[in-house]
Amino acid sequence: MEFYFNKKIETMNRDDLDALVEERIKYTVKYACQYSPFYRKWFKENRIDSSDIKSHEDLRELPIITGKTLREKQPPETEDFEFKCVDWDDVYTIHETSGTSGAPKSFFLTWDDWNRYAEKYARSFVSQGFGQGDRVVVCASYGMNVGANTMTLAAQKMGMAIIPEGKCTFPVRIIKNYEPTGIVGSIFKLLRLARRMEAEGISPNESSIKRLVAGGESFAEESREYLEEVWDVPVYNTYGSTEGTMCGECVKKVGLHVPEDLVHLDVYDPQLENFVDEGECGRIVLTTLLPVGEKTGTLLLNYDTEDTTVVVSRDKCPCGRTHMRILNPQREAETVWVAGNPINRVDIEQGVFQRDNLDYLNGEYEAFLYGDEVETVMRVSMECSDPADCDGDMISENFIKSFFKFKPNLQQVYSEGTFKIIFNFTGPEGLEFYKIRGRPKRLIDRR
Ligand SMILES: [Zn+2]
Repeated sequence: MEFYFNKKIETMNRDDLDALVEERIKYTVKYACQYSPFYRKWFKENRIDSSDIKSHEDLRELPIITGKTLREKQPPETEDFEFKCVDWDDVYTIHETSGTSGAPKSFFLTWDDWNRYAEKYARSFVSQGFGQGDRVVVCASYGMNVGANTMTLAAQKMGMAIIPEGKCTFPVRIIKNYEPTGIVGSIFKLLRLARRMEAEGISPNESSIKRLVAGGESFAEESREYLEEVWDVPVYNTYGSTEGTMCGECVKKVGLHVPEDLVHLDVYDPQLENFVDEGECGRIVLTTLLPVGEKTGTLLLNYDTEDTTVVVSRDKCPCGRTHMRILNPQREAETVWVAGNPINRVDIEQGVFQRDNLDYLNGEYEAFLYGDEVETVMRVSMECSDPADCDGDMISENFIKSFFKFKPNLQQVYSEGTFKIIFNFTGPEGLEFYKIRGRPKRLIDRR
């Protein structure tokens, strides 16, 4: 089995890769200026010559595009879709991403865009050990989100079979009848599936599954470890979005590889003014890179993903790939602030998934913040597998220990008594989020 999907590109040495990136930055910026109404106008109004943008540093001259910018530059706000770069005849599919607020954002993909997206997933799958002979159940939804469809197209390029379930609630007989070797889903869906299998007499750790791919949301390292224990297989992380990021962990699990030749990823400070220093946490800002001569339906330069990460390394990975690696991105929308300290949903998850807790908990949780100027109360609810036998004191203690481990300032506020944490335990399906449709919101600020 070939270990790389595109060996030449994936193992290109750093200097050649950087040169390729610069060549594509130049071409992509020129393309934007020629074919995107938004950029054509911008370059004209700012009297900047697109050929002056030559390198990664020069990208700072261009505006940062947010979801809001996209909404403001499409009907009904403007006459045309100003980020659309091709004629209607060249559009293959149209997508809308709903987001949490406001009108959906429109994306136009050409067949070339599909192939580039699929290549990114194919590289990621191959780096995780998938290949011909594998049968993979895709639990991600097919539809306006491009993820599931591009994975399916990637499988075609790899000679791999896909079982396009679209949801993780598929009948357990799928596992029995087709003996899939992998499943793509979110951590929680894969945990629930394992429980359903157990209930029907199939041990997840004795099933045909050889590896799992977790995606769709950020997660704590602890929850991955637990999922690996339950299934007794490696779990690999992926990070993807309609805007074109598709990063994936390889078998070495030392960060997610960014397909640097196709997407340029910068890490900015919170004010979005400058790059952070290497190794510091910041906002992911993406620029699509086009191979010279190719076209794209929607072009975004400097797109603010509202996710944060840290660059792990730009050195060659033990897997042989040279493309940079990043930490599991976290969603800024899942961060709340208490006395100037950030708390991300993943921090809560880490506290819940302390290993000893999982002898009593099923992993489902939610947290709410209440309070005023003076005092903040965080109420953490967790589901016990058996409420009659649940060691709440031990769980709370483990949670507190893990939660404050890297948050000394917050711990100070906690010991002063202006930040309180209270714990609540329920039985299975006892949490509030079950009453609300859609993806569970696990950290909600009610102040
Ligand atoms: Zn690697």
